[in-house]
Amino acid sequence: MEQVTDNVYAETGYMGCNPGFVETSDGIVMIDSPHRPTDALEYRAVIEKRGKVRYLINTEPHGDHHAGNCLFEAVGVAHQGTREAMERTPLEFMKERLSSIDPDYAPNLDSFYIKLPEITFKESMKLYVGDHIFELINLPGHTASETAIFIPRERVVFTGDNLFHNFNTCLQESVPNEWLNSLEILKGLDADTYVPGHGEVCSKEYLDEQASNIKEWIASVKDGVEKGWSMEEAQERISFLERYPIDEEMKMVGQELQRMSIARLYKLAKEGQI
Ligand SMILES: [Zn+2]
Repeated sequence: MEQVTDNVYAETGYMGCNPGFVETSDGIVMIDSPHRPTDALEYRAVIEKRGKVRYLINTEPHGDHHAGNCLFEAVGVAHQGTREAMERTPLEFMKERLSSIDPDYAPNLDSFYIKLPEITFKESMKLYVGDHIFELINLPGHTASETAIFIPRERVVFTGDNLFHNFNTCLQESVPNEWLNSLEILKGLDADTYVPGHGEVCSKEYLDEQASNIKEWIASVKDGVEKGWSMEEAQERISFLERYPIDEEMKMVGQELQRMSIARLYKLAKEGQI
């Protein structure tokens, strides 16, 4: 667990997303929950010593950001599109995935469920908790419902997966052009510290590298389309996997996520959308 500012903490060492939390004068606000239930229980024990968890904000709909939700008694908050995508997530699929990445927890998965957010918004909302304000902003990119959480008092932004810091970028459900625009908006926030969805905590400087990585992705798939490659050929020939360090998680799912990312961009390129 890393203390990012006076009241903000982030965990960048777990498999899955980087969950974080903010200690306010009126309880704790969590941002995303750990992917592996065993990690979530450990994380809960740390947080509960610091206060009652009031709210749990999910930045996006992928399981690595919300699988731990059901282990926390907190009011859930997320973008409407994130809630809808979570509603569509097959429970059995989630349980299978969790039993493979967290075998120690597998015997307890009978009680596992996808805990949906109770409060939703569409463009932006402010959450006032104790002496902190949380600005939730929909910034389409990695997914259409991707949400940044800006905490002005701490000059911190939780970016969700619009920022992968020294970590392979996943574009399988992306809206790439909007993503580039969202990175500009993130850059314009009055903040010093950015907690990415994956990778180490970083500063504003990294946003440009993320943007150029997305541009490279777009260019290489468009180039393949222009050369007349089929989607399968593009999937064979394009690889970004060596670009950033491959951790345990990317070893397991990296190849498949890359194929899905190429498929997504290939379709958008064919439709003239990128
Ligand atoms: Zn994601």
